[in-house]
Amino acid sequence: AKRSPQLQYCFFEDNMQEAFLSKYKIESELRHAIEHDEFVLHYQPIIDMQSKRVAGAEALIRWPQALTSKNPGVFIPVAEESGLIQAIGKWVLQQAFRDLQKRLKEVDFTYVSVNVSPCQLCESGFFSYVESLIKQYEVPASALVFEVTETALLSEDTVTLNTLNSLHDLGIRIALDDFGTGFSSISHLLSCPIDIVKIDKSIIQNITCPNSKHKNMLEGLTYLLSQLNISIIAEGIETQEQSALCQRLGIKLTQGFLYYRPASEVELQLLLNNTIEQ
Ligand code: C2E
Ligand code: CA
Ligand code: CA
Ligand code: CA
Repeated sequence: AKRSPQLQYCFFEDNMQEAFLSKYKIESELRHAIEHDEFVLHYQPIIDMQSKRVAGAEALIRWPQALTSKNPGVFIPVAEESGLIQAIGKWVLQQAFRDLQKRLKEVDFTYVSVNVSPCQLCESGFFSYVESLIKQYEVPASALVFEVTETALLSEDTVTLNTLNSLHDLGIRIALDDFGTGFSSISHLLSCPIDIVKIDKSIIQNITCPNSKHKNMLEGLTYLLSQLNISIIAEGIETQEQSALCQRLGIKLTQGFLYYRPASEVELQLLLNNTIEQ
């Protein structure tokens, strides 16, 4: 049956209200979670395609007790909008440093990659906070990568740019996350201290289709980035075919469910000496 315009409007309003309510619910759950230390940090291995070994790992937040949504793709944006990301981001960094310190003593592990929100980067105290963690935990800056998205770079905010440059000067590598979605612009590669580009899974998922334009684009990007001395990580690899093609294109670092899903710190510890079968 056809809905009257008025009814449609009501449906629309209902959805809006629902979205608002769930955001409000998530926000108050997040406040509780911060106070009660409910977050856990997992790690997804990043694979070195030449040695077939784990080169590093991306830290990904987990919230096992979440009621409304366990998906960081849902609750992180709410945290960003409400300002709670400042506290959560600090917890993530501290946990990543703690785990890294422990791991560096036990195994020959290269680096941990931490997601940093735009709102963290534009806080003027962020750099000194990171500096103090490096001193406190005595980990080398070279064992850290910070993943930032283009949203952080779009505003061309001077605090953000200064922070990125200071972090980079300290020896922390900067990765541009989700490349190929949204506003990806070549100019950011020139104006910001970017060491690594992470090719988004939405591109990887299309590279093995017949006559794939995504594949041609990835090939071109690989060449362009190598000319700029920027490393590539191909994200979201789920099939053998995608893996083989990336390798053929000369991509040295990969990440995806095909190799490993995000794992707890203990599980990561166990698989660090493994080689993958591909
Ligand atoms: P992201 O930074 O792009 O992280 C990669 C996401 O892709 C992760 O989802 C990971 O589990 C997933 N993934 C990895 N391999 C595959 C694959 O082969 N196929 C598919 N379909 N997915 C794959 P997750 O953990 O749900 O995180 C979602 C997003 O939430 C992240 O996207 C990131 O933007 C945000 N996030 C997660 N942890 C943190 C954090 O500690 N801080 C901040 N600021 N954001 C975080
Ligand atoms: Ca990321
Ligand atoms: Ca990503
Ligand atoms: Ca993302």
